[in-house]
Amino acid sequence: MDASATRHDRLPDSPPAIPPGRRDLRRLPKAECHVHLTGAMRHATLLELAAQAGMRVPTALDGTHSFPPGSWRRFQATYDAARSAVRDEAALRQLVTELAEDAHHDGAGWVEVQVTPPGYAARFGGIVAFTELLLDACTRASASVGVGLGLVIAANRTRPPWEAMTLARLAARYAGCGVVGFGLSNDERQGRCGDFARAFAIARDAGLLSVPHAGELLGAASVRHAVDVLGAHRIGHGVRAAESTSTMCLLAERGIVLEVCPSSNVAMRVAPHAEAVPLRVLRDAGVSFTLGADDPLIFGPGASLLGQYEIARSVHGFADSELAEVATAGIRACAAPPGLRAGLLDRIEAWLAKPPHRAGVAVGDHGHRDGGLIGGRCGA
Ligand SMILES: [Zn+2]
Repeated sequence: MDASATRHDRLPDSPPAIPPGRRDLRRLPKAECHVHLTGAMRHATLLELAAQAGMRVPTALDGTHSFPPGSWRRFQATYDAARSAVRDEAALRQLVTELAEDAHHDGAGWVEVQVTPPGYAARFGGIVAFTELLLDACTRASASVGVGLGLVIAANRTRPPWEAMTLARLAARYAGCGVVGFGLSNDERQGRCGDFARAFAIARDAGLLSVPHAGELLGAASVRHAVDVLGAHRIGHGVRAAESTSTMCLLAERGIVLEVCPSSNVAMRVAPHAEAVPLRVLRDAGVSFTLGADDPLIFGPGASLLGQYEIARSVHGFADSELAEVATAGIRACAAPPGLRAGLLDRIEAWLAKPPHRAGVAVGDHGHRDGGLIGGRCGA
């Protein structure tokens, strides 16, 4: 497959086409609630960093191949290889700044970035030094780009529970100082949910959001465990809740918001094709969800945050009012400071109140700036 057709760099010059009678999705204010640090790297940056480091780029990301769908092991190996290209402070700062720029370009006013610090610790002087450097990078990128950034520290469910406890204490130490949530990632089929209950209790007691992945590789029971055992405020993916009416009722009753990532679901064969991602089923059952990019570096063009909203529009037929509800759900369920959240919600109302696009009318750049990492830097 031709490289130029499969890979792109962010910040395209021309805005996406807007169907007549619809509104510009880039201008719809959003919260990005589900994106991973290395997974948000620009492809060009990966190539640049890999060249500097003299390392081989993973086959699925070398520009001549697409990511082959379906294999969790291959996905994780690809992710780990890409992460190994982030070797020094300059690379980390570049990654964070570009992540913020790309999210801002897609209309996000707030971004929660998931990271599992042990994956970077060896190259950055340990998990504490790495976390502090990352928080500083987020503070600077937030100020320079004009988008709010918060960190979600995620435990790896394939690692022993003691590591999750260590990371929960790390996350708690920086609660209110840039860390906003605690997650659980990696292969959902490994580890028992209950093994991580104490770690999540530490995080919740510190005022952090509980945002584990669940209902991606396993079914609705896994979603229910994340709610009952880990006290989930939101759930990463969670789409397989759609397999159980009672689980969808539980989510709807408790107002638990799913972070749905349609491109990721197709790439990982959670759904066989885009139409099968159960956005309509969830919505009809009263389950709130927002949309997230997950790992656009790996899943390729169209897997951006904006791309997920375009899929909801073009594949699932979501009206502008429904897309506004999806964006609103993310903003209400995120950890943005109250003033920023209120401003984003006001701007969603303004977006919907504006007349839709007419054919032949050019679309200008949006240019609104948001900002404000929660609480600045502290906790050293
Ligand atoms: Zn994820």
